[in-house]
Amino acid sequence: MTSPVWHPFTQHGLAEPIPLVERSEGAALYTADERRIVDAISSWWVTTHGHRYPPIVEAIRAQAGKLDQIIFAGWTHEPAEALARGLTEIMPPALKHVFYSDSGSTSVEVALKMALGYWLNRGEPRHRILTLEHGYHGDTIGGMSVGARGIYNQAYTPLLFDVGTLPFPAGDGRNTLDALEAACREKPAALIVEPLVLGAGGMLLYEASVLAEMRAMCAAHDVLFIADEVMSGWGRTGTLLACEQAGVVPDILCLSKGLTGGVIPLAVTMATAPIFEAHLSDDKGRMFFHSSSYTANPIACAAALANLGVWREEPVRERIATLAVRQAERIFALEDVRNARALGTIAACEIGGGEGYLAEIGPALAAHFRDRDLLVRPMGNTVYVMPPYCIGEDDLDRIYAAIQEAAHLFA
Ligand SMILES: *Cc1c(COP(=O)(O)O)cnc(C)c1O
Repeated sequence: MTSPVWHPFTQHGLAEPIPLVERSEGAALYTADERRIVDAISSWWVTTHGHRYPPIVEAIRAQAGKLDQIIFAGWTHEPAEALARGLTEIMPPALKHVFYSDSGSTSVEVALKMALGYWLNRGEPRHRILTLEHGYHGDTIGGMSVGARGIYNQAYTPLLFDVGTLPFPAGDGRNTLDALEAACREKPAALIVEPLVLGAGGMLLYEASVLAEMRAMCAAHDVLFIADEVMSGWGRTGTLLACEQAGVVPDILCLSKGLTGGVIPLAVTMATAPIFEAHLSDDKGRMFFHSSSYTANPIACAAALANLGVWREEPVRERIATLAVRQAERIFALEDVRNARALGTIAACEIGGGEGYLAEIGPALAAHFRDRDLLVRPMGNTVYVMPPYCIGEDDLDRIYAAIQEAAHLFA
């Protein structure tokens, strides 16, 4: 019997097997037919500490016994209050305000709307958004508009708004910075970037100094700087935020994926006082017009609050540093791969010839890993490893042995 489920980013016409997963623990997924799959990509970049991390699961259980859901416009609850306080303590102090939503994409839509609201309420309406080439900010219309255009959004192109795209930084990033300088003269509303690593664009890395200079240039030209740390946040790049490595504090910060440890959906958009205050008035017409039904769901907030506790009380940074070393050792030891690179807990390289998301070896590569009980999802011929922080040496060895084998098979 065929399933009525329509899967995301899945071509059902290829009839590739879709494993049925029943259980998870740590860095492993267990299928209904009792295979143990190593989760080498943290279930699409969300799982940080490990699957079903006990303090987070326990917090969800406890919160579900108390308060499940409540309207968040004009009402509040302790998990949302405590989480917002906790976030303002752990994140850069300038980010004083926390707006809740449900996914990385919505946190980006919120950030863009905040930026435009800021300019309109200051009486200087601006709407142009600057972005980086190869960027990814989600699959909603706003997120796609500020992200790279390609096969994955060509059907929707007529609906996407026009943006200013800066070239991806080469070396010292002069190419990007010169383009930014020129673009700033036209008074754009904001620049949105993925700090240090462009994830869906192919795990492309650029220098922290370029990030620092982009931020400084935005400040000098009065252009809002939005950091989309939906993927890079929560330790992925070696620090809590990737921005830290460049000594950068954005005007607006998007967080999701690892916010709840990757257990349950939740997102926040954090903003500085000027962004909040631009919406502050006794005039209802100036408030921030955004909400979704499940804004700040108490159970999700409790999970994120438990995640903050894990960051406070457990040696998470040490675990990340250790994993970073293990990843770097292995990715740079591979033979017959191109562009081996690593940043924090992320390691990537290219295999075989061809390029792009639809590179011909894509499906064969995916099957190669699936057949070896590994959850690795190459982007075209880019293979990357981004595991939960608890992953063991043996599992890492299995992943890298399979990548090495693929590099030889598909050379
Ligand atoms: C995943 C991702 C998003 C979108 O998040 P969703 O939760 O999938 O909507 C946005 N920005 C970046 C940088 C991402 O990696």
